Amino acid sequence: MLTIPKHFIDDIISHAKAEAPLECCGILAGKDGSATHIYKMKNTEDDPDKYFMEPKEQFAVIKDMRLKGIDMLAIYHSHPHSPARPSGVDINLAYYPEAVYIIISLMDTAKPVIKGFLIKEGKVEETTIRIN
Ligand SMILES: [Zn+2]
Repeated sequence: MLTIPKHFIDDIISHAKAEAPLECCGILAGKDGSATHIYKMKNTEDDPDKYFMEPKEQFAVIKDMRLKGIDMLAIYHSHPHSPARPSGVDINLAYYPEAVYIIISLMDTAKPVIKGFLIKEGKVEETTIRIN
């Protein structure tokens, strides 16, 4: 289970809305399943159905997390036009079996849907996100 402060959820939703119709992406980090840091990342894909984190920026974030002694807990991205579930591309590119993949769907912009998934060896399992 992953616990995320309410204000990070608000940040993720505003990030998703700002990037629409393209996808947004980012990283949540912290300790023991509790997110304490949010990194809004640059999406290098110019395609409304894909995202890819800018490698140099991602490397800098990994370094920063190491320095702070925190772990990457989740990777989030938005689905501007599709439901909150991993696409085939998302499943193929899920390189971090320990991370929760968070997807924000903006299909109904007034009511964004946020769900978390574990993706291991092509298998997808929904996991609970606790907002506090
Ligand atoms: Zn996706």
